[in-house]
Parts: sequence; structure tokens; C-alpha cells
Amino acid sequence: MDTLVFATGNAHKLQEIRAILGHQFEIKSLHDIGCDVDIPETGSTFSENALQKAHYVKQHYGLDCFADDSGLQVETINGQPGVFSARYAAIHGLTTSAGRDEDNMDYLLQQLATHPTEPLPSNPLQQGWPASFSTHIALIYQGQEHHFEGIIHGHIIPEKRGTHGFGYDPIFVPEGHTQTFAQLGDDIKNSMSHRARAVAQLAAFLKS
Ligand code: IMP
Repeated sequence: MDTLVFATGNAHKLQEIRAILGHQFEIKSLHDIGCDVDIPETGSTFSENALQKAHYVKQHYGLDCFADDSGLQVETINGQPGVFSARYAAIHGLTTSAGRDEDNMDYLLQQLATHPTEPLPSNPLQQGWPASFSTHIALIYQGQEHHFEGIIHGHIIPEKRGTHGFGYDPIFVPEGHTQTFAQLGDDIKNSMSHRARAVAQLAAFLKS
């Protein structure tokens, strides 16, 4: 069985990928190959960051590899937080005991508060700001680079709703829905999310 490294330290993502590709490839994590460094992510796009991680593994370990990078982009504020999604509040000096996700959401809502909202097509009584989540996957396989992208459009709403998921899930309502990712729960989210869409493309490519 061929080995493919998934350049991640996230056990949840690893489990998800193994369930999809595990019967075809031996999927190894960074930890499995003895790579315990924080691989630099200095790109200005999701694609640059994903490729940077995949190249690092290829260069240092000589193994075929894929890596992902995701984030939220809000149109009203020129695509912020983008590649800074994970540390949006921290890079602006805001950290509280509420935790990283809460700080990021609070900081984002603070940035958006002065910008006009629009009604959500799925529920005109709910106001929000147009936004999308994206995942980019870069694969280095048999000497070639391949890229896959998944996007889900929707709106950021002004108040947090729901308890499932992580990150910005409590304030993101995907298009066609009236509830946030955090209200919809993992099964529904995973049937439409940016990450699921990018992973489906990767899997289709590797199976073809
Ligand atoms: P990563 O590249 O998948 O680790 O995502 C970077 C950051 O983007 C996360 O730390 C979250 O803040 C945000 N993010 C990515 N995907 C999601 C999601 O599905 N829901 C909520 N936030 C997300």
C-alpha cells in the first residue's frame, strides 16, 4: 500500500481522511513521520500556505504528501480574516480567558458592527454580512502538484447561536439554511462544508 502523508497535527482531520482514503493509502500524520516542528505558514493565500506545508514534507522526508489550509472570508471587510482566521483576535492584541474561538468571533463582530447588513435570502427577517469558508488542499503526488478547493457561501450573523463545531461556526449561516453551522451539527455541516467539498475532490482524484 502506498504511503501518503497528511501534513496535519489535527487528530480529528486525520481520522476523517483515514475513513475516506485509508483502504487505498497508508495515511501518515506529521507525528507518524517524526516531524514535530510547526511548519511555517507565511503565505498570503490558503493555497500558498497549503503548498508550503506539502513542500516542506516532500523536501525533508521525501514522501508524497498533501496539506490543507482553511479560513473565513467576509466580503464587507475585504476578505478578512482570511489566512489569519485562526489567530484573528490575537494578532490584534485581543486575548481573553473566554478562549481563542470566542475572542475571534467577538473581534470579527466588533469589526463588522459599523458596516451595513443585508437580509439573508433564506430568512429575510435575519440580517447578516455575506461571507464564505474556503479550504485549499495542495497535493504533491508522483512528482506533480495538484490543487483542490472547497467553498461554502453564507452569512455572518450578529449573534452567536448553537453549541456544535468550532471556530466561527456559531455565527455562520450557510446559504439555503436558516441556522448556523453550530446549530446544524456535524452531520449536516460535513455534508456541505468547505472542507468536505475539498476532501471529496482529493478523494475522487486519488481514486481515479
Ligand atoms: P484550518 O486551516 O483548517 O486549521 O482553519 C484555520 C481557522 O479557520 C480555524 O482555526 C478557524 O478559526 C477557521 N475555520 C476553518 N474551518 C472552519 C469551520 O469549519 N468552522 C469554523 N471555523 C473554521
